[in-house]
Amino acid sequence: KLYNLVQDLKGNIRVYCRVRPFLPGEPTALSTVEHIDEGTITIRVPSKYGKEGHKPFMFNKVFGPSAAQEEVFSDMQPLVRSVLDGYNVCIFAYGQTGSGKTFTMTGPKELTEESLGVNYRALADLFLLSDQRKDTTSYQISVQMLEIYNEQIRNNSQNGINVPEASLMPVSTTDDVIQLMDLGHMNRAVSSTAMNDRSSRSHSCVTVHVQGRDLTSGTIIHGSMHLVDLAGSERVDKSEVTGDRLKEAQHINKSLSALGDVISSLSQKTSHVPYRNSKLTQLLQDSLEADTLGEAISTLKFAERVG
Ligand code: ADP
Ligand code: MG
Repeated sequence: KLYNLVQDLKGNIRVYCRVRPFLPGEPTALSTVEHIDEGTITIRVPSKYGKEGHKPFMFNKVFGPSAAQEEVFSDMQPLVRSVLDGYNVCIFAYGQTGSGKTFTMTGPKELTEESLGVNYRALADLFLLSDQRKDTTSYQISVQMLEIYNEQIRNNSQNGINVPEASLMPVSTTDDVIQLMDLGHMNRAVSSTAMNDRSSRSHSCVTVHVQGRDLTSGTIIHGSMHLVDLAGSERVDKSEVTGDRLKEAQHINKSLSALGDVISSLSQKTSHVPYRNSKLTQLLQDSLEADTLGEAISTLKFAERVG
């Protein structure tokens, strides 16, 4: 459903597909990827899913198993940079558990410079560009790490303590960000051993707030960016789960379908957009709004001055 929807939204939304490599021990014979070509991935559909055959899926771009983190980020870079001009941007990683969402957004467990994910690269790029503009504009960048688990929002940068009005941490270097995220991941790791990898069943969101002040006119603009590592999209067989697992699965289904409904109603330009149906869509509302014309105009004026 999401795939069809996002195809209607070209222009406002870009959709990339990333295929991860096989991991050691995985049976490569099971590969269903037939062909990758710029924006098209062709999948071999086995007979157990209906008529056997080949099915092409189209995206803005498809990244194959050998695509480097840097390559993936470079396609998003212009979008990320627009945050400094006052735009609201949202980047999601969507897919089943094990498909590479966390690798793409954060990186592998042992981080190296090459393996840094989108989150670090996006912030490093904002720092670089804001420094290049420092003679005309003064920027303040702050970051908030949140986790949504069972429709509850938790702040991840406060030693695991659930802080409802999550605090923003000012950041100005990549090291600040790494430290902040390490803390967040440590908190997630603690709960994951206790609760059997809860991280795959929660949405993890890094929110970046930017304030820019034009040094000549004093005009202030705001931009924001949500970097979201969504909960695993796999269907949970309801006949096999009970208790906490069932509740988790229901919350995940609810929020992923609420996200689909918001995107759908934005694409159909309906007047009522159902943001309030889940914590996830409430949190992301500012970056998923259709009518941001007023904002866009003041943004363009601002961009004209600083550009
Ligand atoms: P998810 O967050 O979607 O559950 P992960 O990001 O944890 O999945 O990825 C599952 C495993 O595959 C991890 O061991 C991860 O390091 C590895 N992996 C994912 N994507 C890549 C990639 N592009 N290159 C190399 N290893 C990857
Ligand atoms: Mg993950």
